[in-house]
Amino acid sequence: MNAIRHLQNLIRLNTSNPPGNEILAADYLAGVLAGAEYEPRVIESEPGRGSVIARYNGDAAKRPLLLFNHLDVVPVETDEWTHNPFGGEIADGYVWGRGALDMKNIVTQQLIVMLRLAAERPALKRDVIFAGCADEEVSGKFGLEYLVKNHADLIDAEIGLSESGAIPIYLNGNAIFPIQCGEKGNRRLVLRAKAAPGHGASPNYDHYAIRYLAIAIERLTRSQLPTHITPTMELALRKLAPLIGLDPDEFCDPARMPALLPRVPSSELRNMIYNSTRNSAAPTILQAGVKANVVPSVAEVTLDGRVLPGQTTADIIAEVRAAIGSDLPVEIVHLAQHDSNALESPAEGPIWDTLVRNIRKRKPEAIVVPNLLAGGTDAKSLAPLGVRTFGFSPMDFSPDFDRSGLVHGHDERIPVDSLDWGIDVLYDTVLELCS
Ligand SMILES: [Zn+2]
Repeated sequence: MNAIRHLQNLIRLNTSNPPGNEILAADYLAGVLAGAEYEPRVIESEPGRGSVIARYNGDAAKRPLLLFNHLDVVPVETDEWTHNPFGGEIADGYVWGRGALDMKNIVTQQLIVMLRLAAERPALKRDVIFAGCADEEVSGKFGLEYLVKNHADLIDAEIGLSESGAIPIYLNGNAIFPIQCGEKGNRRLVLRAKAAPGHGASPNYDHYAIRYLAIAIERLTRSQLPTHITPTMELALRKLAPLIGLDPDEFCDPARMPALLPRVPSSELRNMIYNSTRNSAAPTILQAGVKANVVPSVAEVTLDGRVLPGQTTADIIAEVRAAIGSDLPVEIVHLAQHDSNALESPAEGPIWDTLVRNIRKRKPEAIVVPNLLAGGTDAKSLAPLGVRTFGFSPMDFSPDFDRSGLVHGHDERIPVDSLDWGIDVLYDTVLELCS
């Protein structure tokens, strides 16, 4: 069966998370893999929360290669869609449906690579492990995190390849392929303003918690947090600078980069660089007041804080404090239970060179750069096992396809003809990494 049919079948299995119900996809994949003489294992962390693991055996001279993916998708607002989000329909040259880009397309790619290994039976120096995991879109707790805690032997590997990389961004006619070499960490914060309570009929705005909080939020969202250039982003900026007509040394100078950034003509690339070169603290949840005629003495906002590799909790708190100032009765609280570490894997050495070479083998004009992801993925769960992870899910989209606007959006869809190129790149890459 061809890749598109598998993608359609996977889209038709509703694995919206919550609740997940990834067992549908895990069972489907297990059936396909068993048909190719694999001995897949379906593991349920909770009823319905299924993950599937299969292994192609090499001679074990080197630690395995892990192809990991997630089987869940984010929920949909069905009324906003042109086609049934769980129909897997083909129309206008696209396969439509939730997961077409994130990431049942990549599940399919990795599946086809496993089927090709089973058919061609190459002799490899590493095992190749396929891990289709539950629960990436919510917490990972019922998916990869569970597997790491309870079945580490099944997924232990030296190298991990997954989503968020090797997908082109176009810049002045150049196809830029960022490969994800790391991601930011979480530092959730709360801004808490305190003042006097009172009656809503006689407000004292000179000492008013909601007003203090509003001023703090206004200051925070008006200011840019400082620029930090990690080794990964320095490599990327040096490669990109000449394509934009910028001096590489100036573009890598944290003091000058913010002023130069607007000269990057692609908004997608501009956003990528912006978010990968600073910590962030986005206000997301507001809370104050219990009754319309009572002035609350406390007002709070939750900040979705993200830190670059090398940045500490104290660093981001100091940056937020500098942005909001010290003249307001607003404290910054750190919710440590939501912390996760940033990751950064050096964009150098034989593994990195193999990834770059295999993109350029089938796309000689590609400009490959390393990147840090602003968000987080399942790759964090693998850190305790010492797996070196890369976002490497090659797709050759054309310049007019607006991928970034469709991931997690309405009418998620993928061009029918875009899977095969990436499957060939991924297959060659797997062979080379395991030879
Ligand atoms: Zn994803």
